[in-house]
Amino acid sequence: MSTRGNLFIVSAPSGAGKSSLISALLKDKPLDKQVSVSHTTRQPRPGEVDGQHYHFVTVEQFKALIAENAFFEWAEVFGNYYGTSRTVIEQTLANGIDVFLDIDWQGGEQVKKLMPEAIGVFILPPSKDELARRLTGRGQDSQEVIDNRMAQAVSEMSHYKQYDFVIVNDDFDTALTDLQAIIRSQRLTMASQTHTHNDMLDDLLAN
Ligand code: GDP
Ligand code: ADP
Ligand code: 5GP
Repeated sequence: MSTRGNLFIVSAPSGAGKSSLISALLKDKPLDKQVSVSHTTRQPRPGEVDGQHYHFVTVEQFKALIAENAFFEWAEVFGNYYGTSRTVIEQTLANGIDVFLDIDWQGGEQVKKLMPEAIGVFILPPSKDELARRLTGRGQDSQEVIDNRMAQAVSEMSHYKQYDFVIVNDDFDTALTDLQAIIRSQRLTMASQTHTHNDMLDDLLAN
């Protein structure tokens, strides 16, 4: 019998490294973990593939999806709309697969209200200077976009206390190990283990 998957909300100021951490986590295509591909109205960056990084849609299409109640949560971030599809999440969790949401704090707040058992992980950069270096070093956004994201970083980071776990992404491999430890720990809770090992526990405890 498969245990329901866990839902992870991963938030951070833009450039802190959440997309890199999530893609490193899923690099070997594990069968028990999946990232949720959001819809967005922002323009694709060079190299971004529709359906893989995001579902890129127009504002009209996004508004139609809102009207259809297609989103589990949605928010306006940096002047564009972003949203998480409802059906994919429900089905994936029911299949015992952990789902990762790379979403902003407004989305994180909505998800926690709808699903209090969701696990919030906030990623912090080691300093503001390093955050600015990473945003610039990524080399995929215009200076205007980078300035706007830096200006919003403090307001995004001020929400870190609403999350269950905090990771400081200074050394990347350490941060990845920290994220893996959080995920593993959630598979070892009493509720999860009791469910997974139901038959074994019956055997062990029989007189
Ligand atoms: P992508 O699929 O190649 O875009 O992979 P990512 O989004 O994970 O990373 C973007 C780029 O940043 C890649 O060239 C990575 O190798 C690089 N990168 C990721 N993490 C680190 C890190 O901790 N340090 C450095 N220097 N580069 C990194
Ligand atoms: P986010 O998804 O949070 O906006 P990204 O994952 O795109 O951030 O990371 C922003 C940039 O910082 C990328 O160029 C990435 O390679 C780099 N980066 C991520 N983590 C680290 C790290 N620990 N040390 C140095 N550079 C990093
Ligand atoms: P980016 O444009 O760098 O890919 O993402 C910008 C911000 O939007 C990030 O903080 C990211 O976490 C957030 N975001 C991406 N997808 C979603 C989503 O589906 N819902 C919400 N609420 N935020 C999202």
